[in-house]
Amino acid sequence: MSFTLYPDTRLALARDSLAGLSVGDALGSQFFVPGRRPADLAAGRLPPPPWQWTDDTEMACSVVAALAEHGRIERDALALAFAERCEPYRGYGPGAVAVLRLIRTGTPWPVAAASAFDGQGSCGNGAAMRVGPLGAWHADSTARAAAQARESAEVTHAHPEGIAGAVAVAVAAALAARGRLDGHRPEPDRLLAAVAAALDPDTEVHRGVRRAADLLGRDLPEAVDALGNGSRVTAQDTAAFTLWVAARHLDDYPAAIRACVEAGGDVDTTAAIVGAVVAAHTGVGTPGGVPGDWLAAREPLPAWSG
Ligand SMILES: [Mg+2]
Repeated sequence: MSFTLYPDTRLALARDSLAGLSVGDALGSQFFVPGRRPADLAAGRLPPPPWQWTDDTEMACSVVAALAEHGRIERDALALAFAERCEPYRGYGPGAVAVLRLIRTGTPWPVAAASAFDGQGSCGNGAAMRVGPLGAWHADSTARAAAQARESAEVTHAHPEGIAGAVAVAVAAALAARGRLDGHRPEPDRLLAAVAAALDPDTEVHRGVRRAADLLGRDLPEAVDALGNGSRVTAQDTAAFTLWVAARHLDDYPAAIRACVEAGGDVDTTAAIVGAVVAAHTGVGTPGGVPGDWLAAREPLPAWSG
């Protein structure tokens, strides 16, 4: 079935996804502050505001700004936007800082991205962490979500796993947003099967998403044990776990974020990814959506994000 999706609707979906991404990022990063305990969040006690967002949000804002302005991702412009807006204190990994510095000083992005990690290219989770809103924008086509996710990833992540992580998250967000427009929640197993079908079967990310589908009935520690929690900061260690959480809690944003916090690992990024996918389905300020007080506690987004 195809339908017409107007630009205003696309942008509204992408912005809701960005709200979920940035709140997840900002709240998740609070749990790296000494003394913060996941049990407090589980009991409904929130960290004191403001919650600063990190690199996940900064890069996602560039993705949404590009979509708002041009309606699509254009790689040269996106690479430059990432490079020029990078504030290194926002928690960028050393590899990302190096690639973005090269781009900022005139190295073409294909050369800069390929140079990372001694020429292997990055398989980090950085392309996945920023791409959810792009998936929501493409609620009418998982094929276009996947193709544009690949382009958005390539400017910094040349490794097939880094790219696969972005494709997986974008397709999940597209299906989540599609379910919102259709008025029904995608079944967790069907969601993960559709994501797996969009991925290169030779990747570990693909195998991880298949494994995640087999683990839908298990509890959180078992999922972390089998899928990881982002602590290795790779796409392989992040994408499958985050989509397991999102599929299970697609209509309950607070529960989804609490699961990321409880799981530990790279919490700002896992909560950013999960938040982007879930908020594409729930929206903001709705039952099960991004809570208004959480949004108010998040540091405001940069003025250039529109
Ligand atoms: Mg971060």
